Amino acid sequence: MVITGLLSEHAAGDARLDWWQAAACRTADPDIFFPVSAHGPGQHDIARAKEICARCPVRRQCLQFALATHQVHGVWGGTTEEERRLEMHAVATVPAQREGRAEG
Ligand code: SF4
Repeated sequence: MVITGLLSEHAAGDARLDWWQAAACRTADPDIFFPVSAHGPGQHDIARAKEICARCPVRRQCLQFALATHQVHGVWGGTTEEERRLEMHAVATVPAQREGRAEG
């Protein structure tokens, strides 16, 4: 989770975001977590962001927050928006597959 002004305001008023205080990205360049594109130069930014996430002590909480709040853009918990979209799709389709229902 990149510490944006908006999220900082949220965290200040929400004890559930205590984990944010330990975020490894607090002093990182926010732009690398929100590249303009996942391709071209954006790939380098994503790789740098993921390096920071890899050593972040609150990675799990960050990813849970991103999934719970439907964060569409940016790198959260070491995942890109595309990776989170695939994860959500997989979670949504597993029960249907277990029950033998077709995905739809
Ligand atoms: S997992 Fe990554 S984006 Fe989330 S708080 Fe940690 S460093 Fe920031």
